[in-house]
Order: sequence, then C-alpha cells, then structure tokens
Amino acid sequence: MTSKLSSKHFHDEDEAFAYVEARVWPEGPVCPHCGGVERISKMQGKSTRKGLYKCYQCRKPFTVRMGTIFESSKVALNVWLQAMYLIAGSKKGISSHQLARTLGLTVKTAWFLSHRVREAMREGGLDHFGQDGGAVEVDETYIGRKAGVPLPKGGWKHKMTVLGLIDRNTGRSRFFHVDGGKEIQGIVLENLSREARLMTDEHIMYKRIGREFADHQAVHHYNKEYVRGDVTTNTIEGAFSIFKRGMRGVYQHCAEKHLHRYLAEFEFRYSHREKLGVDDEARADRILKGIVGKRLTYQPAVARA
Ligand SMILES: [Zn+2]
Repeated sequence: MTSKLSSKHFHDEDEAFAYVEARVWPEGPVCPHCGGVERISKMQGKSTRKGLYKCYQCRKPFTVRMGTIFESSKVALNVWLQAMYLIAGSKKGISSHQLARTLGLTVKTAWFLSHRVREAMREGGLDHFGQDGGAVEVDETYIGRKAGVPLPKGGWKHKMTVLGLIDRNTGRSRFFHVDGGKEIQGIVLENLSREARLMTDEHIMYKRIGREFADHQAVHHYNKEYVRGDVTTNTIEGAFSIFKRGMRGVYQHCAEKHLHRYLAEFEFRYSHREKLGVDDEARADRILKGIVGKRLTYQPAVARA
C-alpha cells in the first residue's frame, strides 16, 4: 500500500492546481470576474504565475484560487491540500501548533489556514432531519467559558451553550452555538421535519417543542434512565464527547467568536465519518467543494489556539 501523502498534488504545485481545477471547474475554467466560460486561455511561460488564465471577454487574468478560501494567501496550493487532508483525517482535530510543525509554517499562518479550512467545512444544509419519520436526537452541552462572565457557585451560566441534532437514520449531525432556550426552539423547528420522532431528555423546553412533531419521547436522566426501547440521546451525547475531547486536548482557549467554526469542523467530520463510508481522501475532496465563496478577511493578529 502506498502512502496517501505520496500523491503528486501534495508535492507539486502544478499538480495541485490541476487537482483543484478539476474539482472546482468540472466543466472547464469559469472567469470569476464576468462569469464567462468561452474564450479563456491558459497563460504559459516561465515567469507566469502558476495556474494563471486570461479571460478574453473581460480581458482580466485569474486563477482557480480567486474567490475561494485560497485567495490572497502566499501558501503554495499543494501545502494547502496537505493541510486539508490532515484536518479532514484527524478525528479529534489538529492544533495550529501541530499543523505549523508538520507543514513548516509559522503558527500564525497555520492558524489562519486552518480557520479557512474550517470555513470550507461549513455546509449549512437546509434539508430537514427526520423526513422519513425517523428519530432525531436533540440535546445541549456546555463548554469552555464566556469572556467576562464571573464563575457562579453552580450551574453553567459562565459556559458557552452548544445545541446538537442527529438524524439517526442518515447518521448526520448539526451543531449550533446558541444563546438560550428561545433560540433552541427556533433551530429545532427549522431543522426538523414535522414527521420526525423527537428524542430528548426531560427538559421542560422540549416538552413544548415536542408537540410540533409526529412523536416526542424523553429519557429521564434525572431518574438515571438513559435508554428505554429505542428512546435515547446516547448518539448525540457520544458526538458531544468526541467534540469535547477535541476541544479540551487540541483547541484550548477557544474564543466565543470562533466557536461556530470549530463546530462546523466537528459536524463535517462527524457527518462524513468512516462509519458512513467516507474515507480520508473523499472527506478532503468534499472540503474542496466548499472552498468557493468562503473568503475570510479577518486579521490573523488575534491568532489563538
Ligand atoms: Zn471574464
């Protein structure tokens, strides 16, 4: 068996361009300036920038990096592909420090790059969970610490709240960073089909939302009940624990404003995991589909974790 990392597009920038072009432009090059697909020529020559095309309709040059997460980055495209492969394949995530060491980048650059890859992993599906009348598990968890909120004597008001949904039949997940109950209700109503069988814990909030669905069953964690027939929230709790392990071990000090990107990363990996027949390579390719229109413009000066 040959190493997956021996593929040419990881080592040669021309190959990397060809690899990305084949996925972003399956029907041939598209001018990002005017949308044209005709009269486009590849610019050749030793001093020409790699992957450069010229559109003879609007007379402007472009590359496949334009309008994607790769735009205005000096990192070679083959190194980007290595980063995507590593991020896609590491089950618990990979820290910017590790990525910097492995790829020979500065931590700042690695941090910036990994946040862009996370952005490409953000899928924001609009289809409903539980459309087939199947079970959808819904639960919240609390992680990290909000900035400027004092430690209470008990409870979790100082922590950030994450809502998770899992469609048990498709195995897909969605995670959201939420503020409170009102938002949770809205998200559940927006993301679940009314045909769904809702599975939650006994929280009063779910009792109210539950009436909107074909069925609602709750396990009574307070009475130490975790499974009753097929009624359980163990799947979503398992996904939360993978997320928390990653956040604790790899992504310490996650700032609240970045939490949604880490959530997107875990959601992506969970929804495209090995068990569902997606291998590392297919997962990395899938990220490439999400690179278009996802430029991030914030400054890396605030680099953390
Ligand atoms: Zn054009």
